[in-house]
Amino acid sequence: MYYDICIIGAGIVGSLIARQLSKYKVKIAVIERHVDVSMDATGANSGIVHAGYDAKPGTKKAKFNVSGCNMMPGLCDNLSVKFKKTGSFVLAFDQEGEEVLQKLYDSGIKNGVTDMAIVDKDFILKREPYVNPLVTKALYAKNAGIVSPYKLNIAAMDNAVMNGVKFLRETEVTGIEKEDGLFHISTEITGDICSISKLDRIKEEDRTDITAKIVINCAGAHADEISRMAGDDSFNIIPRRGEYILFDKTEGSRINTVLFQTPTEKGKGILVTPTVDGNLMIGPDATVADHKDDKCTNSENLDYVFKTASQTYTRLNIRKSITVFAGIRATPDTSDFIIEESKKCGNFINVAGIESPGLTAAPAIAVYVEDIVKSLMEMKEKAKDQYTMKVRHDKPFSEMTNEEKEAACKSDELCRKIICRCETVSEREIVSAIYAPCGARTVDGVKRRTRAGMGRCQGGFCAPHVMRILSEHTGIAVNKIAKADADSCILGRHSRD
Ligand SMILES: Cc1cc2nc3c(=O)[nH]c(=O)nc-3n(C[C@H](O)[C@H](O)[C@H](O)COP(=O)(O)OP(=O)(O)OC[C@H]3O[C@@H](n4cnc5c(N)ncnc54)[C@H](O)[C@@H]3O)c2cc1C
Repeated sequence: MYYDICIIGAGIVGSLIARQLSKYKVKIAVIERHVDVSMDATGANSGIVHAGYDAKPGTKKAKFNVSGCNMMPGLCDNLSVKFKKTGSFVLAFDQEGEEVLQKLYDSGIKNGVTDMAIVDKDFILKREPYVNPLVTKALYAKNAGIVSPYKLNIAAMDNAVMNGVKFLRETEVTGIEKEDGLFHISTEITGDICSISKLDRIKEEDRTDITAKIVINCAGAHADEISRMAGDDSFNIIPRRGEYILFDKTEGSRINTVLFQTPTEKGKGILVTPTVDGNLMIGPDATVADHKDDKCTNSENLDYVFKTASQTYTRLNIRKSITVFAGIRATPDTSDFIIEESKKCGNFINVAGIESPGLTAAPAIAVYVEDIVKSLMEMKEKAKDQYTMKVRHDKPFSEMTNEEKEAACKSDELCRKIICRCETVSEREIVSAIYAPCGARTVDGVKRRTRAGMGRCQGGFCAPHVMRILSEHTGIAVNKIAKADADSCILGRHSRD
């Protein structure tokens, strides 16, 4: 199958680029090795929209961080994704820490960050009474916020697919050859979910015989391998793991602001943050991962995360933790984002080394890449009624007023069936998630879209119901319903076999 543009990787960067380019009259495919979007770095990070004071002035990181932060509220509004402008504190506990704050403030000014101030203890404790009272000062950045990274990623791909982008799931790029100005992309099929699901029925040949005029490499931690396939070995990616502990919603309401400690050379330090859905989260540490997909957690690292976060925030109660997870940072050996047409291979664009603040920067990166593509190929915009940059979602059942709930239940039987009791998710929401443009095909896919399974019991009660609903609507046998990718089936066989 020929495409004008092939994007490799359906994290936030690849998905927002696909959306940005979907307004043009070009044929676009996004090739993703997993069954869903947002299954790597974008699915496991802090979800902070950074204000932009800690990136080194003059770097791409600084430029795209600040502009991405400014774009984020509008983008979230267009995609019906929650964004909360919480502000952030970087906390100092001694003279040395205060000097770091001043340096951060100065680089923030150079980067063009607005609404920043160094504030005193009274200001901090008035806003956040459970911060360690030994705090002396903080850098307050009013524009920082929080977002659900995977919901933003899903909405971006939904929007791209609505505009005609082809999402090729379970397809891993294994080789790239260029001949007569065309890229031939070799792939391997990584799973059978999208070929057996009656909602997709993607043919094998559509995923194995791919040619393209322009390739955009958004492969996260694997971007150096993809670049080498195209003959460009100018950078390497070092995977660095960060581990998190997530707490029950009872803990989330006690904190309003993102709390950072002063950064070290390893990163921004351990943070304490509310999530946009009302939980409390602490993390991440920074350790070199054994390999690029090493998302394991270990108790030593989690102990470190807990102890370090407890130095900032006095109310942490480990008994209120509900899950732990890890994400992999794609740290480049160039120490800055790599966003350019390859110097060694024309029409091949690297969007690589997008470590933190890559989530924040992604909306600005997408616009920048749009300009690069426009410089390589003639791009005509579709007529205004041929595409949209907005996605509308129904209000989640849990957020409806009593009157709205009553009306919804009267008109729709599936609204009456509450599948996830922890998060009050109805069967209607799960069915809608399955039929969305980039629909859920797995238990985790439903979880990320609807929050069924995100609560205190972590899917202990609702997972079998979610599996039944997935099976009914996708036509996939229930023993083939997977948690994440195709090799993670939950049932070994039908229980009555
Ligand atoms: C611990 C941690 C905390 C972070 N916190 C923040 C934060 O608070 N704020 C912030 O702004 N940023 C944060 N970041 C950074 C942010 O998460 C990343 O910059 C962003 O998610 C990168 O998105 P991406 O699309 O480049 O990569 P990814 O989300 O990793 O997506 C890359 C995709 O490429 C696919 N792929 C790889 N190889 C192939 C192949 N051969 N064929 C097909 N597909 C392939 C992968 O499967 C994956 O889906 C954090 C990152 C980590 C790890």
